[in-house]
Amino acid sequence: MKIKVDQDMCIGCGMCLDICPEIFKLNSDDKSECIVDEIPEDLKDKAKESCEICPVDAISEE
Ligand code: SF4
Repeated sequence: MKIKVDQDMCIGCGMCLDICPEIFKLNSDDKSECIVDEIPEDLKDKAKESCEICPVDAISEE
């Protein structure tokens, strides 16, 4: 499982980082980006939760 954040859609609210700081961080443009290539098994539920909670649907699974 891979996660992608659409940089044009992200509004930098930080909700995904609150849920899963192991996967996301804010970059220099104050947008979230995924910092791991392959989501570890034990973080998949949190990654999916982040996808669902993003207010602008910027996070997608690949
Ligand atoms: S929850 Fe969505 S809008 Fe908010 S920082 Fe994460 S990707 Fe960006």
